[in-house]
Amino acid sequence: MSKLIDRFGRTHDYLRISVTDQCNLRCVYCMPEEGLEFLPHDSMLTAEEIAKIVRVGARLGIRKIRITGGEPLVRRDIVDIVEGVASIPGIEDVSLTTNGLLLAGKAEALRRAGLRRVNISLDTLDASKFRLIARRGELRKVREGIEAAAAAGFSPIKLNCVLLKGMNDGEIDSFLRLSYEQPLHVRFIEYMPIGHDDEGWRSMYLPLDRVREAAAALPWETEQVPDVKGNGPSEDWRFVGGRGSYGLIHPISDQFCAKCNRLRLTADGQLKPCLYWVDELNLRHAVDDEEELERLFYRALDIKPENHEMAARLSREALSHEPTARRMSQIGG
Ligand code: SAM
Ligand code: SF4
Repeated sequence: MSKLIDRFGRTHDYLRISVTDQCNLRCVYCMPEEGLEFLPHDSMLTAEEIAKIVRVGARLGIRKIRITGGEPLVRRDIVDIVEGVASIPGIEDVSLTTNGLLLAGKAEALRRAGLRRVNISLDTLDASKFRLIARRGELRKVREGIEAAAAAGFSPIKLNCVLLKGMNDGEIDSFLRLSYEQPLHVRFIEYMPIGHDDEGWRSMYLPLDRVREAAAALPWETEQVPDVKGNGPSEDWRFVGGRGSYGLIHPISDQFCAKCNRLRLTADGQLKPCLYWVDELNLRHAVDDEEELERLFYRALDIKPENHEMAARLSREALSHEPTARRMSQIGG
């Protein structure tokens, strides 16, 4: 039974851990092309420090871990990190989100280390558009990563697709068809204004109603899927007779904060109660003091706000307090 219950009665059993703010891509919605300062190497949590924090979290009721970043696979010790976390008593599920570029070379070792599920980010099925959105890298490598994940036995394999007006909204249909033809779980995600210039975000933000409309126009019947194994706020559907499914993650058009079960740990050891707001607590300085770590976990719940206000930002209303200045790559999406 989790002891991590906040002021609004929400139980927290899920910790998302960013293991680096570095990345081998520069996706337009996540990072600027240049000019972002990276954390000095010695300010990042080591594999051992991450395990210490998770051990305390597990005692308090954390059961599920997602490793993310930045790009988690650029960390040379990523297999050790996964192994360290997966072997902690109480941790029942370890998953990872990656852009897939380096996955082909690491899938087997990650699986052996205790990783069970992967989410691979894929916003386009078109190689030239990939370069426009991700600014670097090659779609071919991501495809190889997806194949390697399937060959290594990861299940389910989810594809994260952030919808961007004028960029990939013409591909909704192709992604939906992919979820029919392949055992892949495509999750459409609304573009969020995390550490962003607002006008750029407003001009590319697209509500996920467009996905519902596109699905209705396809020749297959749809049915809701109760739970495509996961820990999140995704509303999951599939086409009857299809091999995969598709999910909608709509933090802005249909907020899901009432069911929030997650805390976030940044690569430099800040515990964030909410993705959106500025508040964070430094766990790194307390990493050898279990009592203090416990206190900080409870404190994070005490200060966790009821919701984010991204919809208010879309309609230019005043916000109740200060949003984070970190970009998504610096928090861990
Ligand atoms: N580099 C890895 C990857 O791309 O999968 C893991 C880190 S990335 C920050 C995690 C997820 O956050 C990705 O699926 C990415 O598409 C998503 N993401 C990043 N910025 C976002 C934004 N502004 N709005 C919505 N999702 C975003
Ligand atoms: Fe890197 Fe992932 Fe952000 Fe893209 S979404 S820039 S791959 S951290």
